[in-house]
Amino acid sequence: MTDAASYLFYQSRNPRPFLDYGEGIYLFDEDGKRYIDGSSGAMVSNIGHSTPRVLAKIKAQMDKATFGYRLHFRTHPSEDLAAKTVAMTPDGLDRVFFVSGGSEAVESAVKLARQYALTQGQPNRHRVISRFPSYHGCTLGALDLTGYDPLRAPFAPMMEGMPKIDAPATYLDRDNLTEEQRGLKYAELLRDRILEEGPENVLTFVMEPVGGASTGALVAPDSYYGRIREICDEYGVLLIYDEVMTGAGRTGKFLAAEHWGITPDIVAMSKGFGAGYAPLGAIIAGARIVEPVLDSGGFQHGFTYAGNPLACSAGLAVLEEMEDQGLIENAAKMGEVLMAELRALMDRYPFIGDVRGKGLLTAFEFVSDLSTMEPLDPALNAYERLVELAYARGLIIYSRRTRGGTAGDHFLLAPPLIITEAQIGEMMVILRDALDAFAAEIGQPVEH
Ligand code: PMP
Repeated sequence: MTDAASYLFYQSRNPRPFLDYGEGIYLFDEDGKRYIDGSSGAMVSNIGHSTPRVLAKIKAQMDKATFGYRLHFRTHPSEDLAAKTVAMTPDGLDRVFFVSGGSEAVESAVKLARQYALTQGQPNRHRVISRFPSYHGCTLGALDLTGYDPLRAPFAPMMEGMPKIDAPATYLDRDNLTEEQRGLKYAELLRDRILEEGPENVLTFVMEPVGGASTGALVAPDSYYGRIREICDEYGVLLIYDEVMTGAGRTGKFLAAEHWGITPDIVAMSKGFGAGYAPLGAIIAGARIVEPVLDSGGFQHGFTYAGNPLACSAGLAVLEEMEDQGLIENAAKMGEVLMAELRALMDRYPFIGDVRGKGLLTAFEFVSDLSTMEPLDPALNAYERLVELAYARGLIIYSRRTRGGTAGDHFLLAPPLIITEAQIGEMMVILRDALDAFAAEIGQPVEH
């Protein structure tokens, strides 16, 4: 028999076993081996796998209608999900537009910003400033905002080359500033860049409030967030928060923006919003932005599957589950437990140079020298090696090269928000065992 996998390709050939079923924080392969889903896939499965209450609600919608095109019918799932989303979101964000994924959400946010600028008689505004490193998606528009070299390089000639400022990776800084001063220093990079581009040309600034795949749960100093908002306001630049990974409770608030009391002009969401029950994403914006665009002839944008009733019924069931089970509060609480456990690893493994995160979006990074934060030898391929050692032991973690994808190794731990303290303990036993094996492989002493 031909192996069907040979017809299917992703970024590379796929050597993994076949998935059989999921249950809570666990996934099982067809050989019956159990894995803790320590990264919720790619930070997606926020409410855990196969939740019966959620499945029942999706099935009820399936029995009625799986698709009705939005230009032909209003649907209750889409309108109820929009209302629920607005209710869970801070004031000032009260208009919702649905999409099917994160790249679509980011591009939709930027295009909404552009049409808003046109309604304000500002046709020059088209430059989109983002950060390096960052990840905003793989479609060409979102990719142009992404600061991650290996993904950009093949397509560089096909993109405008949108401007980037350095992400606030203060853990690499060896200056004498306080964290607060560092936050302000990095925020000023935005002002410098706006002035360089000419404020009349700058449309938006796009940032992940807590970094994801490209930076490994990078959290800026508190001072950064407010200053960025002020600078955007000063120059009439719209602030877009890419909450594709951080939204839907992942960091212990519905939106990460709430940690700093920031209201972005537009928010992009996906991943945990559909939580793996349906491909789903959204942009949320204020009426101040959306109404002028509707008045001017409408948003010249949209995807066929946008707001389909099946995906929206899944999204609605996911948000109801989050609320009913107190999962956002649990993410905040369990995030502290997990961070304490990860910090303790730094005493045992000298090659763990930094631990960071917010809520249940956490990460650690490997270094060869704590005083300089030099990465490990790239030839060790640590970012792949530790993932394999953990996978073999039944724990899924998510890793990338850090520093824009060119060097270094970071690892994201972001389990479903339903996780318990005992399950975090279970996850740590496997993680320490994998780290011990990695330490042995690279000949590094481990404190016992
Ligand atoms: N923005 C962020 C912050 C992300 O983490 C991702 C996915 N990793 C995306 C955008 C793109 O989402 P998608 O892969 O669903 O297109």
